[in-house]
Amino acid sequence: MTERLYWQDAYLREWTALVVARRDGARPQVALDRSAFYPEGGGQPADHGSIAGVAVLDVQAEDAVVWHTLAAPLEDDQVACGLDWPRRFDHMQQHHGQHLLSAAFEHLYNLRTVSFHLGVAGVTIDLAASAIDPAQLVAVEDLANEVIWADYPVLARFVEPAELATLRLRKPPSVSGAIRVVSAGDFDHSACGGTHPRSTGGVGLIHIRRIERRGEMVRVEFVCGGRAVRELRWKNATLGRLASSFSGSQEQVEEAVGRLREAEESARRRLGEAATLLIAAEARELVAGATTVGELPVVCRSWVERPFEEVRTLAAAVAATGALALLGVRGAKTQLIFAGGGGQVDCGQLLRTSIAPFGGKGGGNATQAQGGLPAADQLEAALEQACQQLAAGS
Ligand SMILES: [Zn+2]
Repeated sequence: MTERLYWQDAYLREWTALVVARRDGARPQVALDRSAFYPEGGGQPADHGSIAGVAVLDVQAEDAVVWHTLAAPLEDDQVACGLDWPRRFDHMQQHHGQHLLSAAFEHLYNLRTVSFHLGVAGVTIDLAASAIDPAQLVAVEDLANEVIWADYPVLARFVEPAELATLRLRKPPSVSGAIRVVSAGDFDHSACGGTHPRSTGGVGLIHIRRIERRGEMVRVEFVCGGRAVRELRWKNATLGRLASSFSGSQEQVEEAVGRLREAEESARRRLGEAATLLIAAEARELVAGATTVGELPVVCRSWVERPFEEVRTLAAAVAATGALALLGVRGAKTQLIFAGGGGQVDCGQLLRTSIAPFGGKGGGNATQAQGGLPAADQLEAALEQACQQLAAGS
């Protein structure tokens, strides 16, 4: 059985111990008579650090014994141990911040925390809730921070069943017998085996990052203490760079982005208008150089990889002059559009009969029709077919 030193003092960083058991495997493992290394559990990751100068990579509890996974075998029996303190203190800040945030959701809106995850990338709780509005988030964040700044003492102790009955436990115990209870003043009492700061002030700050609806639950992502400071630093640097790129202050960024969006929309609109003018000019040029069948000017043209939407607009512009447009595009898809003809030609019928010999499919009405060909290299032949049919019919 390992004496768990972190239960008595969560701030103990260095101690000596006796190796009481060893295991060989992919990585060597040792058990100590006493250890302040926190084994992974209750949502809190395992501590890292060193035993006799050898790195501790993982810590897991098996019944009453805490096993330490090492980077290399250990010779000594009497060993000096040290925690990776920045990592542990970060876990203490996030874990206690979670207790306060969960308690604030319960106090204000009676929302129960279903699960807690403390990861390298983020810290989250899942709440049994269908929705949380922004004003509720602000109220919960404010209350949790007020409790932090009130600096209530945090008491972590084992409580016998008789006393347990008198405490309003937010989180019921998952084990029986004497239960370890973590209390933040009288704001929150939870059954918990984790490590916590001496007082609520140790959390420093809670900042809710975002929420996300997940089925019947709402996931709340947040950061505490040092993570909150790093988050603020990153957001400040990002906003600062954006402000500099607009040659303005951080307060002006939102307005500057709004202006940029308006300018972009206006430019897009003017580009559309210019494209329409260009198409009209191109249509006039094509009609001027058109061949004639009888009295009818016929524009027969094809392009490679030109957007079909553009060709369709061009066909409409040619048709508007009274000419007949027989246009096609070769590319990933080979498509044709026939339009206009001033009532002298049935575009739908002409298209169907000219692409049918090449396995093409399509249709439309007398004034406009479009279709496709299975083989790109048949496009010119299909257009030629259409011209011959016109000449034969005139
Ligand atoms: Zn806990």
